[in-house]
Amino acid sequence: MTQQSFDVAILGAGLSGRLLAWLLARKGQRVALVERAGPDGSGAAAHVAAAMLAPLAESAIAERRIVDLGIASVDLWRAWIPQLPEPVFFQEDGTLVVWHARDRGEMSMFTSRVRAVAPPELVAARMRALDAAGVAQLEPELAGRFPQGLLLAGEGQLDNRGVLRALLSCVVGHGVHCVWEAGAVEAGDLPRLGVRAGVVVDCRGLGARAAWPARQAGVPGAADAPPASALRGLRGEVVRVHAPDVKLHRPVRMLHPRYPIYIAPKPNDLYVIGATELESEDDSPVSVRSALELLSAAYSLHPAFGEARVLELNVQRRPTLPDHLPAIHIDQEARIVRVNGLYRHGFLIAPAVTEAACEVVQALLDNDPAAHMVPAATRWPGMIAPVSGGAVLH
Ligand SMILES: Cc1cc2nc3c(=O)[nH]c(=O)nc-3n(C[C@H](O)[C@H](O)[C@H](O)COP(=O)(O)OP(=O)(O)OC[C@H]3O[C@@H](n4cnc5c(N)ncnc54)[C@H](O)[C@@H]3O)c2cc1C
Repeated sequence: MTQQSFDVAILGAGLSGRLLAWLLARKGQRVALVERAGPDGSGAAAHVAAAMLAPLAESAIAERRIVDLGIASVDLWRAWIPQLPEPVFFQEDGTLVVWHARDRGEMSMFTSRVRAVAPPELVAARMRALDAAGVAQLEPELAGRFPQGLLLAGEGQLDNRGVLRALLSCVVGHGVHCVWEAGAVEAGDLPRLGVRAGVVVDCRGLGARAAWPARQAGVPGAADAPPASALRGLRGEVVRVHAPDVKLHRPVRMLHPRYPIYIAPKPNDLYVIGATELESEDDSPVSVRSALELLSAAYSLHPAFGEARVLELNVQRRPTLPDHLPAIHIDQEARIVRVNGLYRHGFLIAPAVTEAACEVVQALLDNDPAAHMVPAATRWPGMIAPVSGGAVLH
């Protein structure tokens, strides 16, 4: 096969792969993008995500690093979305948090976790307690249903599939060479696909499991066993419904001890109801139990969801590292950069993470021997690490 040379080859055209392809191509790099599945993004976790950009709401379960990456990334989305060649739904009208009276205890837990993790000035500026009238003013259709609520002002969401489509138009427009339906490839397969590159960036999400070995030291029998991976999938199930009788204006989170759910309104009366989070690699279809829980929670938020039409029941696994934080690993010798661990926060944090990865790739292309010490490494300590043969170098 004839070989074509590129500055950078990216494996995986999900969220991080497409963003990086765009960022690098617009800097003038010659880029190849190689994807296991087709251009519609249906092989990616990004295809099913609700794409909420909710740093404060997520601080109830995440670390401060996610909040900071999230705030930086929402600023980037705000700047980038207008640069995309197609309009993409992007909203910053806040998140409404509600709970039924019997679940009041969940609210105290939620607010104390947010206060413990998020920067105090952000909490003071953005978290507002609402009474029944306040809830009704924000979401008139919820009037009389919730005596209290919280507004997390400024939080956002976007149209996940719209962003994937628009990024694809961008990369095609910048002349990125796209290889679709390539099957499950690794860096070593690129020559077989006619691609030679100065740097390879691995954005395969969960498909990169083998490239993130867990530390085996001291585990009996580890030498014979296939290497365990530090990367695992967390099963998430979501429902997409068409609900023209419901008029919600912003994502609503409902606190509940067993079924904490969110309902994210998208254009054209579509609602994404999600999401389960199960410690499981199972990617079989949505279970009856999960469908019942998600749909009952939506119905209990607003009875008009009873007449909604179920369009899709989706499952994907979130690519997750043990500390639930994103990581960028650089194998300087092999000239491979690996971006992973976006977990349940890919849309929230991918802009800042891929910008940092872009700095690393540029440093490798410039043959900088300290590519792991780019300015982003100071901004996000610990996120960028040099590795050799899969092991992190200290
Ligand atoms: C149910 C659910 C809800 C979510 N909701 C939100 C949310 O509201 N907000 C938020 O911020 N995040 C959310 N997320 C998380 C977000 O979707 C992920 O963090 C993000 O998609 C991860 O991006 P990625 O590029 O690493 O992986 P992916 O988006 O999964 O992309 C990986 C790509 O690599 C390809 N690939 C895999 N293996 C290979 C291979 N061997 N060769 C070639 N290509 C390969 C895949 O086909 C895929 O296209 C949600 C996720 C799920 C599952």
